[in-house]
Amino acid sequence: MIQLYIPLGFLGVLYREIKQSLTDLDKMFTLMEREREIADVPGAQPLKVDGANVTFSHVSFAYEAARPILHDISFEIPAGKTVAVVGPSGSGKSTLARLLFRFYDVQQGQILIAGQDIKQVTQASVRQAIGIVPQDTVLFNDTVEYNIAYGKPGATREQVEEAARSAHIHNFISATPKGYDTMVGERGLKLSGGEKQRVAIARTLLKNPPILIFDEATSALDSANERAIQAELQSVAQNKTTLVIAHRLSTVVDAHEILVMDAGRIIERGSHAELLAANGRYAEMWALQQSSAD
Ligand code: ATP
Repeated sequence: MIQLYIPLGFLGVLYREIKQSLTDLDKMFTLMEREREIADVPGAQPLKVDGANVTFSHVSFAYEAARPILHDISFEIPAGKTVAVVGPSGSGKSTLARLLFRFYDVQQGQILIAGQDIKQVTQASVRQAIGIVPQDTVLFNDTVEYNIAYGKPGATREQVEEAARSAHIHNFISATPKGYDTMVGERGLKLSGGEKQRVAIARTLLKNPPILIFDEATSALDSANERAIQAELQSVAQNKTTLVIAHRLSTVVDAHEILVMDAGRIIERGSHAELLAANGRYAEMWALQQSSAD
């Protein structure tokens, strides 16, 4: 799971504020641990992001030395295209996303954005280039406006509303008594999973980064909601370099390439049609999901 990417930008800068506003303190401390693991190399320059293709080149990674998690992973997301990752729980899908966001540095191989090794540039510039729609969005105990504008500090109310409209959450917000000034989070209005995801989509629209990571929710939204969110995600992903961690294969059909992971390795790869024709693990997963959808 990668649900806590969004608050990270704050850490170290507004420690006290985030301490009071994050809804789950334990998670924050875990994040702070992670933050300490990554340091910029001396003299690191910001990433230059024209044509943001993403390359994983022979990446191997372990959280703990004794337990390798990813083994020799190579793939490329051409600028503006989508690569989807599927595979069983624990196979390493979210770890790929965490490494791209530079929560951790890889032990072997390289991750490149627009040809630059993300280890060699500033981590702040890497995170600035990436928008994440996580499985489970963490909201601050603050107003709806604040939560959306978090994608782009200093955004105007008009910009926030426009993003909310595109994410199809504007009508819902407008129907609350205080509209965009409504407090949300643990001490305010509770939002459903789908509504929270729409807030995350609005944030991402406002941030307008060249690279996106979608971690599809495992928890089932009702199917109408799910289809609507998928359609919104697809429109956000237009012309952006996108990594999708998919739990439902219906999301991945149009991907430029699908990677099937198992135990930290890519065991199959190709387009949806190629993988069905190969009649291997993906075809098996597809058949299983089709039959359970009946
Ligand atoms: P899911 O579909 O359930 O989200 P996943 O394919 O995304 O699973 P990852 O979250 O990438 O899997 O986890 C891959 C492996 O890494 C798992 O065995 C997990 O236990 C391990 N792992 C994940 N995070 C950590 C961590 N912070 N420290 C140690 N091991 C970890």
